Amino acid sequence: MARPWWRFWGGDPPPVDPAAWQALVRRAPLIAGLEPARSERLRRLTARFLDGKAITPVQGLELDGADRLALAAHACLPLLEAGTAALRGWSQVIVHPGAFRVEHGRHGTPWEFDALEVVHEGSEDREGESWERGPLVLSWADLAAEIAEPEPGYQLVVHEMAHKLDGVDGVMDGTPLLPRAWQREWARDFGAAFEALNALLDADPEAETPIDPYAAEAPEEFFAVCSEYHFTAPDLLREAFPAVAAHLERFYGPSPMARR
Ligand SMILES: [Zn+2]
Repeated sequence: MARPWWRFWGGDPPPVDPAAWQALVRRAPLIAGLEPARSERLRRLTARFLDGKAITPVQGLELDGADRLALAAHACLPLLEAGTAALRGWSQVIVHPGAFRVEHGRHGTPWEFDALEVVHEGSEDREGESWERGPLVLSWADLAAEIAEPEPGYQLVVHEMAHKLDGVDGVMDGTPLLPRAWQREWARDFGAAFEALNALLDADPEAETPIDPYAAEAPEEFFAVCSEYHFTAPDLLREAFPAVAAHLERFYGPSPMARR
C-alpha cells in the first residue's frame, strides 16, 4: 500500500472533515463541552488516531464512519494535554458488540494475540481491556451508550486510555510519565486517596464509597477510574478526593463536564 502523502513530510494526516466533526459534537456531550481551541486540537488528534489504529468490529458488529469517529475522538480526550506518546507501540482496537468474556492466565495469550502483557488478569466479563503493548478491547454497547449520554463516573475508552498513559513510562502503577517533582506529589496524593478508599472498604465491604469501589482494586485502576470521573463527573471527584481532582485537571485540562 502506498504511503499516504502527509507521511512524506512528517506531518499530521488531514483533520477530520468539519461537517463530520460538527455531527459528532451534536451527538456527544463530552466533545460538545470542550472549549473551541481544545475541540480543534481534539479534531487533529482524532485524525491521527484514525490514521494509525485499525478499528476492528468483531462478532457481526458493524461500525460506520460516524461510530469510528466517535470512538476515536473519545479515545483521544485524555491526550489533549498529554500528547501522543500513549498512541505509540500498539495499533489495534477490537470492538465487541457487548461485554465479552476474557480467559487468560498471568501472561496468557488471549484469542489470536501473541506476546501481550496482561493488564487485567483472571477470567471475567469485561466492558473494556487495555494491554500494555497490545490492542484496546471495547464493548460497543457500553461505549455507545456513554457517548450519547455520559454517565457520571463511567467512560470506558477514557478508562482504557488512562491505562495506556500509565504504561508510557514502562510501569503500570497508577502514575503516568510526569516531571519528577510533580510525579512525587502525584504518588503521594493518589497513594493517600487509594489508601483511604481501601480503609473504608476494609472496615465495611458493603460501605457506600464516594467513587466506584472498583478503584480500590489496584493503584492503576484507581487512576483509570478517577480519570473517568474527571471527564464525566468532576464535581463528584473534587468532593471525594480534592488533591487527586487537582492533579487530573492539570494532567487532562479542564473537564468538558465542568460547570461554567
Ligand atoms: Zn482497568
